[in-house]
Formats: sequence, structure tokens, C-alpha cells
Amino acid sequence: MSTKHDLVVIGAGPGGYVAAIRAAQLGLNTASIEVEPELGGTCVRVGCIPSKALLEASERYHEALHSFGAFGVNVSGVELDLAKMLSRKDGIVRQLTQGVAFLYRKNKITRYQGLGRFTAPGRVLVEGPDKATTEIEAKHVVIATGSKVANLRGVVPDGDRIGTSTDALSYPAVPESLVVIGAGYIGLELGSVWSRLGAKVTVLEYLDRILPGMDTEIAAEAKKIFEKQGLSFRLGARVTGAQPEGDRVVVTVEGSDPITCDRVLSCVGRVPNTDGLGLDAIGIKTDDRGRVPVDPHFRTAVSGVYAIGDVIAGPMLAHKAEDEGIACVEHIVTGFGHVNYDAIPGVVYTAPEIASVGKTEDELKRAGTPYKKGTFPYQANGRAKALGAVEGRVKILAHATTDRVLGAHVIGAHAGDLIAELAVSIEFGASSEDIARSSHAHPTLAEIVREAAFAVSGRAIHI
Ligand code: FAD
Ligand code: AMP
Repeated sequence: MSTKHDLVVIGAGPGGYVAAIRAAQLGLNTASIEVEPELGGTCVRVGCIPSKALLEASERYHEALHSFGAFGVNVSGVELDLAKMLSRKDGIVRQLTQGVAFLYRKNKITRYQGLGRFTAPGRVLVEGPDKATTEIEAKHVVIATGSKVANLRGVVPDGDRIGTSTDALSYPAVPESLVVIGAGYIGLELGSVWSRLGAKVTVLEYLDRILPGMDTEIAAEAKKIFEKQGLSFRLGARVTGAQPEGDRVVVTVEGSDPITCDRVLSCVGRVPNTDGLGLDAIGIKTDDRGRVPVDPHFRTAVSGVYAIGDVIAGPMLAHKAEDEGIACVEHIVTGFGHVNYDAIPGVVYTAPEIASVGKTEDELKRAGTPYKKGTFPYQANGRAKALGAVEGRVKILAHATTDRVLGAHVIGAHAGDLIAELAVSIEFGASSEDIARSSHAHPTLAEIVREAAFAVSGRAIHI
């Protein structure tokens, strides 16, 4: 087997595997290096996919216990089969990692299993699981090594009661009490899973709000809803340590009493992963946050070496990594390739979902951009009533004079699907008038988006 390729991608997460597929489609002899035996990266193995599988399953359980009665469906003897829930999740992950392997075969991508390390620009040494090494040569090398869990000083994962998001995807039993450190989206999603399954969940957050970076008004509404669901929050709580004590854990918080619980889930963010990559060997220096610096075409300071996804700046999201993978490779081959960072949606898959694209109100205020705002509640939408999902609203922010849509924020059922229309609107430079004048099927939740667009100019119909 020749070890000379046109392009090699290090890391087979959503950034790397998508970049590899696109490069192969464009006719490049493409290789992919991945240290794990399965393809798909954080997202497929221990991130987006398993967390969504558990969110869905735990929501079904919770609904069967608490919501079916309101629909005239009486159920009794509802039982949790946690082992089955976890194995269903594992099965979904398996199908998808195998799916990526199928796509590699279909696109004739050469796969190397092992840790990739630069020895020189255009040369990468792969150390396989058996310690055998292979040196690969490629004109273009794309770094897509993703991110890893950030550690909090004093909170050391012990492989048992103190753990990270990866552990929280597989607790063998529902903890009686769970302390989640960090109220970002990962902490809230996994906190929701275990709360629905019966754990008493306390979220400790250093800031005075949850979901930093999301629209403040929407985040405040989300907090109220989560509290009604039984999650408790302590904001302004700086965690300084977690110590196992017998079969429990004591969590210390600056300036207040310690909390004792069964399990601790540390979700204080993720950091770029360049471990063992040998960036020194080619003279790439990471920035102050450990990220690989790139230009708008994902080129690093070293000719022929590119970087995409969680390992570079920007939101750590799977679709952002995919978009960058495609743009990077297309730019290499065609000279064109671009990512519009104003149109990348972010979704929190709690119930209700929370979704956001473009600018928040805070950002518009800070920039002094004049804007109009239109909001419409789920409560006034027929389909939301039929679904029994009347919490939430859509908020659209448009430029005060041009009416161009600048940002949109949704909290409510299927927010993650509704945001797609708003992301396309921003991508196409649409005005709120464009959305309002587009026909939306009745009865759908999408009508809430249309009504919010009408509301931008004060003419919502159904309120
Ligand atoms: P990664 O997916 O991290 O992939 C990098 C790959 O590179 C890994 O497989 C790693 O093993 C490999 N690697 C690293 N170094 C080397 C090396 N030297 N040699 C060979 N291989 C190497 N994002 C969303 O958009 N939606 C969600 O719902 C969502 N949910 C999440 C839930 C959780 C619990 C977590 C942890 C993350 C979630 N994310 C979500 C974030 C998402 O997983 C990441 O943004 C995404 O995986 C980044 O893709 P990537 O390709 O840059 O890196
Ligand atoms: P994210 O980066 O979105 O995953 O969110 C991580 C969250 O953890 C942020 O809201 C941080 O403010 C929070 N956080 C970080 N350090 C601490 C700490 N020591 N105690 C409590 N919360 C923290």
C-alpha cells in the first residue's frame, strides 16, 4: 500500500471525516488518521449522538410517567429499564460509526488507525495500537483533532463518582443526587437526562446566569422552566473541589457550605486537543487557549497544513466543524470555500429545546446596531396546543432600517428544527418581511416563526 497521498486528515470527527469525504469527491487521493478504533470522533462516540439518544429515551420515560394522562392515555406500571436505554444508545452509536466506515470505503479513503504526529510539514508518523509506525506523505495535511474535556482544579475524575460527560452517558444506575458543575449546554442536557430518570440534580454555575453566550432573555426563561422541572440551580457558585467520602462525594463551593451527593458531573467546557500531534516539529504555535491559529481559509502558518473544527477558534459544534471541513478542502481544490459564522445555529436539546442563530440582543446593543424585535409565543399556536407544548417563544431581531434578519432565538418544542429556516434566512440576507410573506403550512410550529416575523413590524395576526 502506498503511503503517499494528496491529502491526509488527522482526526475522524465530524470535521475530519467530512473533510476526507469531500476531498475524495473532489478527486484527491485521500487518507484519514484516527487514534480510536471507531470513526466519528467526539460527536458520534461520546458527544452529540449518545447524548441525544439518552435525551430522547429519558423524555419518553418522563412523558409516560407524567404527561400521557393529559392526552387521555392512561398508563400504569411504567418502569425504567436503564440497561436497555443504555444499550439502545450504544447501538445507535455503533450504527453511525459503522456508517462512517462505510462512507470511507465508498469514497475510497485510506484509513490509518493510530496516533498521528508531524515529523515535518507534509509528513505524519502514525503509531498504531500495536506500536508499529507508518510514515505518511501528503501535499496537504488537515488537522482535525478536535477537543477534550477541560479539567477543573480540585475536581479530578476518579473513574467512579466524579466524572465527565463521557461517564454521564453510561451511569450504571440512576444516582439519587447528582451535582452538575457548569450550566453550559452539555451540563444542562445531561443534567436533564438524569433528572428525568429520577436523580435530584443541582447545577452549580460560577456566573450569574445559565447558558453563557446565549440570548440573556431566552436563557432566563429557560432557567425558570428547568426549575419547574425540578432542576435546582446555584448561580455565582464557584466550585473549588470534589472529594470522595465513602460512597458519596463532597463538593466544596467558595463562600458557602459544601454539598454532599452521589455523583459529580464536571462540565466546565472543552479545550482544543493537540496532544502528541508534534506541532513543535513543524513550528506551529498554539494561541493562549491552546487553539491552532488559522487564516479565513483554514491555513496555518505552515504551508500545506490546515486546521478545522474544535481545535481552532469558534463555537465547538459538530456542524461548524463539518462546514469548515468542506470549505477548507474546497478552497484547496477550487480556490473557493467559505464559512459564514453569522449563520451557524446553536441548539440545546433540553425539553423545551433552545436554539439560536446570528446576533443576540446583547451583541446588537454592544455594537450600537439599531434593531427591531418581533416575538411570538407558542401558547398562541394551534399545533403547539395539539402537541401539548405551549411553553416558549420565537424572537426575531431585524435591522431597524433595512429589516435584514440579524439574529433569531427560539425556546420551545422543536426549536432545533425551527432554527433551520432562520439560519437559511440569514444566509440568504432575508428581511423579516421575506419570512412573513412566505407561506407556512398550517397547523405547524413553523407558523410561530412567521408570526414572529410579522411581529417585527407590529402586525402579528393571532395575538
Ligand atoms: P472531534 O469530534 O473531537 O474529533 C477529533 C478526533 O480526532 C477524535 O476522534 C480523536 O480521537 C482524533 N484524534 C485526536 N488527536 C489525534 C491524533 N494525533 N491522531 C489521530 N487521531 C487523533 N455539538 C453539536 O453540534 N451538537 C450537539 O448536540 C453536541 N452535543 C455534544 C454533547 C457532548 C456530551 C459533547 C462532549 C460534545 C457535543 N457537541 C455537540 C460538540 C461536538 O461533539 C464537537 O463540536 C465536534 O465533535 C467537533 O468535531 P471535530 O471533528 O473538530 O473533533
Ligand atoms: P461551556 O463552556 O458552555 O461548556 O460551559 C461551562 C460552564 O462552566 C460555564 O458556564 C462556566 O462559567 C462554568 N464554570 C467554569 N468553572 C466553574 C467553577 N469552578 N464552578 C462552577 N462553574 C464553573
